[in-house]
Order: sequence, then C-alpha cells, then structure tokens
Amino acid sequence: MTMNALKIIRTFALRMSTVKIKDKEFSTFISAEKIQARIAELALELNNDYQDKNPVFIGVLNGAFLFTADLFRCMKGDCEVSFIRVASYTGTQSSGAVKEVMGLSSDLKGRHLVLIEDIVDTGHTAVYLMETVKKLEPASVRFATLLLKPEALQHDFRPDYIGFEIPNDFIVGYGLDYDGLGRNLNDIYTLIA
Ligand code: 5GP
Ligand code: MG
Repeated sequence: MTMNALKIIRTFALRMSTVKIKDKEFSTFISAEKIQARIAELALELNNDYQDKNPVFIGVLNGAFLFTADLFRCMKGDCEVSFIRVASYTGTQSSGAVKEVMGLSSDLKGRHLVLIEDIVDTGHTAVYLMETVKKLEPASVRFATLLLKPEALQHDFRPDYIGFEIPNDFIVGYGLDYDGLGRNLNDIYTLIA
C-alpha cells in the first residue's frame, strides 16, 4: 500500500470517529475538547465554593481516575486527593446493590469532602457512598460526577456538580470501560452496534 493510500484511510477513519472494542462498535459522543472545557467550568465553581476550605477530593476507582486527576489539577490553593473503590455483590441477583467501600480513610472527621464519580446511572452507588461517607462525620460532603443519566436514576438524588446529562445509553472512554477496555480513549463514545 502506498503512503498516500494509508494517509487517506487514516483520515477517513478519524472523520468516521468510530471505534471497535471486542464485539461492539462505538461512535464519538463527547469530544476531549468538550470534556476539558466543561471540567474547567466545574473547577471554577469548585474553586469558588471551596476557597480556604482545604477540601478532600475522593475519586471512585476505576472509572473516575482521569476525571479526578483533570479536575484536581485545576484546583487552586490547598486541597487533598484520595481514591476509594466500590465492590458490588457478585451473587446471582446482582441488583446493583453495593457491598463494600475500600480505601476510605477514617480521619475525615471535620473535613470538607467532594466525592468524584465518572457517571451516575441508577444512583445506587452514589447514594450508598454519600451515606457511608457521612458516617465519618465530615464537615460537609458534596458529589461531583462527569456524567449523569437522568432517565436511569432510581433515587431522589441530585449530584451537586454535573458535567453532562446524557441519554440512557452505554458509553465508554475517558476512564469508562467496556469489559476493562476503552478507558484510555480521550473522547467519550456511545454504543452504536
Ligand atoms: P449506578 O450505581 O449509578 O447504577 O452505577 C454507577 C456505575 O456504573 C458507574 O460508576 C460506572 O462504573 C457504571 N456505569 C453506569 N453506566 C455506565 C456506562 O454507560 N458505561 C460504563 N462504562 N459504565 C457505566
Ligand atoms: Mg464509577
């Protein structure tokens, strides 16, 4: 194949903006530029709300690791970051019930906490995390999510900081995976087939 032909194919592939992960095909949904621009806006709000409060950002692994990092580096002044992981029941009737929160520091009493999630879907995880974290007697707890699926939400819960509200479709990229893959994509993609 000539170099020219290769270039044309690559250009075409970029314009198509589709990606195949295992058996599924996805197309670009939110570009990296849009994600970063929205994060900058959220950071403006957070910087304003948490000025001189030395907040602790708590990222929820694995999905929120990129969002947490990009948001955190927009923060001015004193602030801290840590990560937790949520293990779900793996039994037969997996109803999205949450089993355990791992890695939560016990010395968060009196601190201003911001939980950071990649996406709120049913809201089971978010509600469970809020309840669990409140038991540690922090000064305050707020919830930030890059994405929210309002149609999927099953709780009377509204995150305090929301990047984008999206339809109830399966997405990957920017930390979100399909079967462990796709987290390294800089754009967010939605399932097409
Ligand atoms: P919830 O407890 O709100 O139902 O689910 C939250 C978790 O489900 C998220 O942190 C994420 O790991 C996963 N999740 C929900 N929707 C999607 C999606 O569209 N794509 C991916 N990759 N994960 C999702
Ligand atoms: Mg998550």
